[in-house]
Amino acid sequence: MSKVLDLTKELISRKSVTPDDAGCQTIVAERLKNIGFSIEYLRFGDVDNLWATFGDSGPIFTFLGHTDVVPPGPIEDWESDPFIATDKDSFLVGRGSADMKGSVAAFVTSIEDFLEEKPTLSGRIGVLLTSDEEGPAVDGVSKVVEYLEKKDEKITWCLVGEPTSDNRVGDVIKIGRRGSISAKIKVIGTQGHIAYPDKANNPIHSFSSPLAELSKLSWKDETDRFQDSVLQISNLNSGTGASNVIPGSLVLDLNVRHSPSTSVEQIKLDVESILNKYNLEYEIHWVVGGKPFLTTEKELIAAVTNSIKDVVGTEPVCTTDGGTSDGRFIAPTGAQVVELGPGNASIHKVNESVRKTDLEELNKIYKTILSSLLSNI
Ligand SMILES: [Zn+2]
Repeated sequence: MSKVLDLTKELISRKSVTPDDAGCQTIVAERLKNIGFSIEYLRFGDVDNLWATFGDSGPIFTFLGHTDVVPPGPIEDWESDPFIATDKDSFLVGRGSADMKGSVAAFVTSIEDFLEEKPTLSGRIGVLLTSDEEGPAVDGVSKVVEYLEKKDEKITWCLVGEPTSDNRVGDVIKIGRRGSISAKIKVIGTQGHIAYPDKANNPIHSFSSPLAELSKLSWKDETDRFQDSVLQISNLNSGTGASNVIPGSLVLDLNVRHSPSTSVEQIKLDVESILNKYNLEYEIHWVVGGKPFLTTEKELIAAVTNSIKDVVGTEPVCTTDGGTSDGRFIAPTGAQVVELGPGNASIHKVNESVRKTDLEELNKIYKTILSSLLSNI
């Protein structure tokens, strides 16, 4: 059994359902301490975060990851205990195996392998872990970034270990992510008897034209790296349940996943101008879930791409799709951010699994990235 698989198994055995870290970060910290890292445990609210660094000066390369996992759901739906890593053919099965304890283990073992060769370093290594990536992400990486800013610490290159791969490790990397903005809208009407519509104001009727316009809203991506941004409605509720009552209100939820070409101000303006055009009485509550980012500098992308080529022989496709990640908190500080992890076919599902060779190759790829960015020889 390889070091990376051993450590992945050890981490899977900790029931670290968000926001509980269940001791995962201590396991990682002890390993890093043994090879000379300085360790800072940063607990905010009920969230554990770890900031570990090696080296004295120069640009800092940071591995970013999370130790928390999503709940397993009904245990009886699993073929084996989700918190006991189980070998099944060429896969390791367990909650968090792919998202993302396998990558966290590969962070540690790749650093160990790299430093064992006693390289002359031209920079520093950082490891940043949180136990609140799968949850609200309020007391996780965003708080650590505030803490680092106060210390005048600036991450230069950030490698996020989220599972980005498709058919084999390194076939897909992410060099950006879309932003996410949501709104809850309450359209206010006047409740009344269905037989006396002149004495009521039906919000379903008054909202029908604005609904049609909202559902056609889209914003062009100008970076050529993202899909165009479109508005999607996830919930639409009105009515009392009775067939003879005109409802007094209508509530809907909408979301836009947007490229860096489209600002949240533009989205707000376009949505609200439709609502205002129809003279609706409404309340609206906006929530910005994450800002978009796109890494355009070539340095980190080249190091990651070349390392993948060295280890597996193929070049990755650079994408920006999928949900948000904690990279959204690091990128605004000026860091170059790239995401590379194992296959993602089973993440958040029952019988989550990771291909064992994915982790072994990931270990080698991460080590090659460290060496190409930090090694002075
Ligand atoms: Zn994840």
